[in-house]
Amino acid sequence: MTNPRPDPAPVVVVVGNGPAALFLSYLLHGNVPFYDPATTGPHPDSHLHSLLKKYSYTPSGGPSLLDAVADLTVLDYIRSRYVSFYSVNTNPIALLVDTLIASDEARFASLACKQSRIKWVHLPDTAVPHIVFGASPAPGGQWAFSDNNSSVLHPDEKDQQSLSYAEMLSLPGYSFTEFFLTANTNQIDDYVRPCRGDISRYYAAYPHQLGLENVFQSSTVVTSVDSVINDSGERIFRVDYLHLKDPTVRLTIQTPVVVLASGVFEKPLKELRKNSIHQRPVSPGIMPTRLLPPQGVSREDLEADISSREPAVLVPQCVPSDGPSPAVLVIGSGVSAAEAVARCGQTSNVIHAFQWSNANPSPLRRLARESYPEYARILKLMKRAVKAQREALAQPTTSPHDTGLDQVAITMRQPLDDGNKPHSWYLGVANALVQSVSPCGRVTLLLPGEMGNRTITANVSKIKICTGRSGSLEYLGPSVRRLAGLRSVNADLGSISKTFLETHAREFSKDEVSDDDSLSICSNDLPDCCPPSPKPGAASSPGTSCHLRLGHGLYAIGSLTGETLVRFMLGGCMWVAHDINLNRARSKELLAI
Ligand SMILES: Cc1cc2nc3c(=O)[nH]c(=O)nc-3n(C[C@H](O)[C@H](O)[C@H](O)COP(=O)(O)OP(=O)(O)OC[C@H]3O[C@@H](n4cnc5c(N)ncnc54)[C@H](O)[C@@H]3O)c2cc1C
Repeated sequence: MTNPRPDPAPVVVVVGNGPAALFLSYLLHGNVPFYDPATTGPHPDSHLHSLLKKYSYTPSGGPSLLDAVADLTVLDYIRSRYVSFYSVNTNPIALLVDTLIASDEARFASLACKQSRIKWVHLPDTAVPHIVFGASPAPGGQWAFSDNNSSVLHPDEKDQQSLSYAEMLSLPGYSFTEFFLTANTNQIDDYVRPCRGDISRYYAAYPHQLGLENVFQSSTVVTSVDSVINDSGERIFRVDYLHLKDPTVRLTIQTPVVVLASGVFEKPLKELRKNSIHQRPVSPGIMPTRLLPPQGVSREDLEADISSREPAVLVPQCVPSDGPSPAVLVIGSGVSAAEAVARCGQTSNVIHAFQWSNANPSPLRRLARESYPEYARILKLMKRAVKAQREALAQPTTSPHDTGLDQVAITMRQPLDDGNKPHSWYLGVANALVQSVSPCGRVTLLLPGEMGNRTITANVSKIKICTGRSGSLEYLGPSVRRLAGLRSVNADLGSISKTFLETHAREFSKDEVSDDDSLSICSNDLPDCCPPSPKPGAASSPGTSCHLRLGHGLYAIGSLTGETLVRFMLGGCMWVAHDINLNRARSKELLAI
């Protein structure tokens, strides 16, 4: 829904309306977090408690946790003591906020268990006028399209469960559990992994519940962000955007601060260009179904599909005339692929093509078996498949086309054994190349082996490409690209993953002065966004840089900064809110002189 532009004029424009933007908006509305050692007792880490005591709420005012997320003593301590189960690179700001929300992993089981040590106080004087533009039809970002009523939702995604437990997806101020209990009469279980439709509805309800809805302009695509000089001679940002309901009308807003929250999963601008201008763009996050072309698919075509990191489902046009009954071919090594294997395995046989090396096996390895038994089951199948493949391929073969080829496949198959269809099988193939696919779904897989390559042929009823998704920063104009220090202005901004900023954006260091293309400020004035690396002088290790501030007035939050789990995005949003407030206070001081 398009809302009227809020008054007063926004100081901050946020691009993207996912969970990170929702939480930032909550903060910019003047909701301030304080350390709360009283409600459920002090944090069990007594040293952290002593460091945070000064950030407790006092009616006379004082520092809040928005200051704590920039306190280098606190962050250094967190860095030395805390680590995420998910990634060793999770930044200390994220870990600090996470441990204040729930002091250990098991506490995310339910809202009651969490025992948050954050007290939220509404301080209207700290509010910052802002506006949030997002392509999805409702707030929620990449989740928004998952509403079960959505016509663009692929049937396979209906009822798909989240990776996280409900309370890991909750945002401060209004939790998933509170939403669920309002919307449903039944209770919510501990350790529940909600379905995507419920999460979508939760994020859509969040701004309404908290009175933030006036600043959200959904179904709105930002087409360009560039820096310009305004009438007062100040450098500011010019943001061009359009509403999908009437895309012929191009709108512009000028602002001193832009926050990029556009994520790494969708490319609405590209979709807008691709689709007829009057259609609502179909989210690339939704698996589009395509018929296999009449001539089938060559290896090159399929590899292009796989490396484009766009999910897709390919469906045969006809039924194969011979051979075994079709299986589903799932391509991918991560959580989405595991999810697809588990779901498809309930009704079909599954062939799973995945990447594997001893040094770098599947990302599923990072997920604790106790928390994610279903992914542990798929990982076990994959491990067994690697072993079976190694043994099968160790047998000498005279040519890659010998007659016993499908015998190889038979020896490698395993029962899926998920209780639903006990006779369905799983055939895992590691590092296989899909050589070709016929229009009727006859697939030829090439298995590389030390004793020579082997091929396997199989009939498939569906090919699910689950090799990851990507986002886009193509909407950044040349001067903003330079400001962000994107090493090459020509860097491919059309397909970005969560490591993009880490790889391409420069670190906005203390010693750096602006170049001609940057805004006319000296960054010596600005505090570091991250604590120094453990060894003084040493370069920060990959992932320890936050990339929250890309240049003066230009910020990034959410998955764009490398933190893809909602629970680990909250700290970065708090740091950005802190920095925006700090710079506003400085500007006011300067004006008062
Ligand atoms: C299939 C899937 C399952 C996931 N499951 C989980 C999970 O269980 N738990 C978890 O913690 N995380 C999960 N994630 C990770 C995901 O990173 C987060 O859940 C979260 O959605 C990221 O939030 P965000 O605010 O960074 O961006 P997003 O949610 O990606 O939202 C950004 C929005 O900005 C929009 N946008 C982009 N460009 C423009 C533009 N030019 N103009 C206007 N709008 C624009 C995009 O269309 C998008 O809607 C999952 C991700 C995927 C893809």
